Amino acid sequence: MATLTLKNISKQYKNDDHATLRSIDLTVTDDDFLVLLGPSGCGKTTTLRIIAGLEQPDSGHVFLDGKDVTSLEPNQRNVNTVFQNYALFPHMNVADNIGYGLKLKKTSKAEISRRVKEMLELVQLPGFERRKPSELSGGQRQRLAIARVLIRKAEIYVFDDSFSALDFSTDAKLRRALREKMPNITKIIVAQRVGTIIDANRIIVLDEGKVAGIGTHRELLENCTVYREIAQSQLSKEELA
Ligand code: ADP
Repeated sequence: MATLTLKNISKQYKNDDHATLRSIDLTVTDDDFLVLLGPSGCGKTTTLRIIAGLEQPDSGHVFLDGKDVTSLEPNQRNVNTVFQNYALFPHMNVADNIGYGLKLKKTSKAEISRRVKEMLELVQLPGFERRKPSELSGGQRQRLAIARVLIRKAEIYVFDDSFSALDFSTDAKLRRALREKMPNITKIIVAQRVGTIIDANRIIVLDEGKVAGIGTHRELLENCTVYREIAQSQLSKEELA
């Protein structure tokens, strides 16, 4: 599993009158399933974009396995990203959309076909390979976007709220499949729904551009006011007990 360190990361967008991230410091290691949670606008997407290299911090450094990657381009880091505004190729069917990244790398047809099949099973879309993206539901398109990123090997995968278009049960199933099929790979997920992240190894709570707490669901319920408030607004008394 990868070790990811954010050291003193700050960021203020040019046209914004206040800082989006204020001295974010954190190290994650040995956690395969991490969640970024916090109120809307607290800086989750910006944090992911900085990890992926799509945005530069004003100050601070990003380390991957001890190596400073702050100035590296996204494709020079071992990080693959699924964003909310995914772009699928409309004229290609599901199988070709998923296999496209490998085709570019001149992978053999047999290998592409094997890996595409594996991915279709992982995201629970077997049988859909000949459909076009326009013939899928929103949640199915989202799973296709996830499969397209997962087929390319990386040390870290980041998902910017990619699961929110999925219904609760598909969301839970996909998370379980990711954990079982990709156990030693770090997965960082932005989440809105506390109900689906209770079993995360570690939850990082952001509030107003700062880390408000890091821990498991139980630890944060006890120690982090921001987390407790979010959990209380979403979970029933029985779930909180
Ligand atoms: P979250 O993902 O937690 O909702 P974001 O990281 O998307 O938060 O945004 C945090 C803050 O930064 C918000 O106040 C948002 O308006 C601002 N912001 C995000 N992206 C930009 C941008 N490209 N230009 C200006 N401000 C931005």
